[in-house]
Amino acid sequence: MESNTQNPGDKPEQSKDIGDEAPLDGASPPMLDLSKGMPTDDAIHAHNRAALGLSNKKARPGVFTVELPSCGYPYGDSIPGGKVKLLPWSTEEETLLNNMTGDTPTKLSQIISNCVLDCPVPMDDLLLSDRMYMMLMQRIRTFGPEYGFTFRCQFCGATSRNSIDLDESLDRIEMDPDAREPFDVELIDAETTVSVRFLRGRDELDVLKYVNQRESVRGKRRRGIDEEDEAAKRRREDAASQYRLALQIIAIGGEDVDTEESLRFVKRMTMGDSNDLRIAIDEVEGGVDTTVSVKCAVCRAENEITLPFSGEFFRPGRRRRRTKAK
Ligand SMILES: [Zn+2]
Repeated sequence: MESNTQNPGDKPEQSKDIGDEAPLDGASPPMLDLSKGMPTDDAIHAHNRAALGLSNKKARPGVFTVELPSCGYPYGDSIPGGKVKLLPWSTEEETLLNNMTGDTPTKLSQIISNCVLDCPVPMDDLLLSDRMYMMLMQRIRTFGPEYGFTFRCQFCGATSRNSIDLDESLDRIEMDPDAREPFDVELIDAETTVSVRFLRGRDELDVLKYVNQRESVRGKRRRGIDEEDEAAKRRREDAASQYRLALQIIAIGGEDVDTEESLRFVKRMTMGDSNDLRIAIDEVEGGVDTTVSVKCAVCRAENEITLPFSGEFFRPGRRRRRTKAK
């Protein structure tokens, strides 16, 4: 047992809150420390919060606790049971969404981390699957589970509107307690084994860079995501998903590979191998299954789609409160 009393000669204890909370009560805003290279997400957030004059997170109402699908396993003892405290989005996040320049994924990342309390693991180091879960839980807590979006039927091509209950439609899948990283997956068609790692917050920035670079090579003028036509959007999503897979593969047949090499491998992969690999990753890592089944209003066919993130995710219509009518 350690004693809490301090001798005059002892070193003063360092504050443990550095980086999480901007010192806003009269203190000067934090400086971005560039001496160690690129600042982390958290450092940028703290800086942005102070610069925008945002309030102390701890004073905000509505704190709730969730259990991350990873159960905290990949973070050592930092997040026991995978329990983290979150906040619903406030008008502060709305301001961030409206005023920040940058791509949608970057904005999303900032909004998610803006509404996490006391997380000892930097946002950059959290698994993407855990971050996705946090975003969904924040959305449900902020606006309720009902979410409307439009989708294009893969059978008749008609666009129809659908609405789902996020609570009921999305499955939280816990990480395998025996999961190791990297883990090996055997690919039948390629007749080899690949070693796979999990994706983390910082990887999403690499994916974004890759997709943007690819688009500028195509000579396309960059437009906002909302204005993109369906085909361009799908191309972008396909490229992003290939690159994500390439980032995850760190060795092929026992030989270490760089991302360029694994990307070439991913592009040559058969659909069967690619499907097996994705399923194997999902089984080990867990996360949220964002596949939803929606019915086409025109041909009545059931479509299995990945949950799209439309404007209504962040700005739904009237919130349906769960109160009894009198
Ligand atoms: Zn249809």
